[in-house]
Amino acid sequence: MRTIANYIDGRQAPPAGGEYLDKPEPATGGPLARVPASGAADVAAAVAAARAAFDPWSHTPAAERSRLLLAIAAGIDARSDELARLESEDTGKPLTLARTLDIPRAAANFRFFATAILHGATESHPTDHQALNYTLRRPRGVAGLISPWNLPLYLLSWKIAPAIATGNTAVAKPSELTPSTAHALGEICSEVGLPPGVLNLVHGLGAQAGAALVDHPDVRTISFTGGTVTGAAIAKAAAPKFKKLTLELGGKNPTVVFGDANLDRDLPAIVRSAFANQGEICLCGSRILVEASIYHSFLDRFAGAVSRLAIGDPLEPGTEFGALISEGHRAKVLGYLDLAREEGGRVVLGGGPVPPERLPPRCRSGYFVAPSIVTGLSMGCRTNQEEIFGPVVTVTPFHTEAEAVAMANDSNYGLAASLWTENLTRAHRVAEQVQCGTIWVNCWLLRDLRVPFGGMRQSGVGREGGDEAIRFFTEPKNVCIKL
Ligand code: NDP
Repeated sequence: MRTIANYIDGRQAPPAGGEYLDKPEPATGGPLARVPASGAADVAAAVAAARAAFDPWSHTPAAERSRLLLAIAAGIDARSDELARLESEDTGKPLTLARTLDIPRAAANFRFFATAILHGATESHPTDHQALNYTLRRPRGVAGLISPWNLPLYLLSWKIAPAIATGNTAVAKPSELTPSTAHALGEICSEVGLPPGVLNLVHGLGAQAGAALVDHPDVRTISFTGGTVTGAAIAKAAAPKFKKLTLELGGKNPTVVFGDANLDRDLPAIVRSAFANQGEICLCGSRILVEASIYHSFLDRFAGAVSRLAIGDPLEPGTEFGALISEGHRAKVLGYLDLAREEGGRVVLGGGPVPPERLPPRCRSGYFVAPSIVTGLSMGCRTNQEEIFGPVVTVTPFHTEAEAVAMANDSNYGLAASLWTENLTRAHRVAEQVQCGTIWVNCWLLRDLRVPFGGMRQSGVGREGGDEAIRFFTEPKNVCIKL
């Protein structure tokens, strides 16, 4: 069993109170790690270190900051096999997914913002012949970064990289369910010579370490990714203190399959959009809307493809579908499957835990739920309205394009949608009408790090990515010079 430490002022540090949380391995249910149960004292020490580091770091030339971020990216690459294994053990996700998605993307995040800061420009506004305005963008100070467990290093680095690249210092709180790659990131930062205090990592429970970070008066910038209920609590705590906030929250994303979709080419991508990472990606499509003319043939083909997913030990290279993050989350997902039945849904595939005899002996006490497909539910029912964040999708027919748009928009969320059609004119028309922050056409999770990323309505406030992130982590100041 490994023991995780906080990373404060460039050093690995035990929690001030000496208390630890037990972190099980999702694939086995057995013990995996001891995680600091940090509290306000640890957060205060981390914020103090970040404050002290801010002045020198914010005056460090961009080229030097860039060099250090590139070195962190190289450090991640150099340890990618080890990091992928840590991520798979912590989350239950297939090792192959961690190796091909999570860890390369974490390195890419650092690389992207390391180079972005070398190529930026700020605005200038000439006022007739009277004055010249120009905008300065300065780092804001200590940023508080809070991230979830589903894509641990991927999402943590998506916040850390723009925050420190732009000259802020940071205190990050990963989910206590997935501390291991964050711990390793602290080691990498020390190895490459990131000045102490520029990045600090505090592990612990959201209600303690997370809340203390949001509350701290010296943390004026908060970037949060997680659930909508937590996002609302953070917004409430941050508002009276006028903190700058970005909230990337939950989703209940529609996948709209038109009759002319090229299923020979795209069915594997549609399956992935539903069940990648066991459905534990905020962008997964959980409401699959299918044009009535192909509904039955689509359902047959889709269920057939899903039933062939290789479920098993996440550490085996051939595994495509692993365990859910925790016992509690598995209970929540199974509860939603019960609810779907109560609401009149017909379970076409899955519908419960993976039978232990289908799993290797090592994994028989792990938190596995079978990929599940439910039909026969209305859009308004709870199963179709609430985020399950697991391997459960509904499939529902529609008859007209207008009906598809109305069903896609029948949600309090607005994070992402995918459209599957060979009719480009229709794709443009529907994309314009669907109320989500990201619309993919004939693809899913195809990410260009320059584009704005975020959600509408209960899926969040603000955008991350590219210039949006650089703007978020800097404070604009206008200088007006009379000519
Ligand atoms: P949570 O909202 O439970 O937790 C997210 C993070 O916030 C964790 O580090 C958590 O700590 C912390 N936290 C919890 N309570 C507080 C608090 N009061 N103050 C400060 N921090 C707190 O989400 P999950 O970890 O369960 O992640 C799943 C959710 O994340 C889903 O809803 C999913 O849709 C969303 N998500 C959104 C994404 C997006 O980009 N829009 C991307 C990925 C996920 P702890 O773990 O200790 O509770």
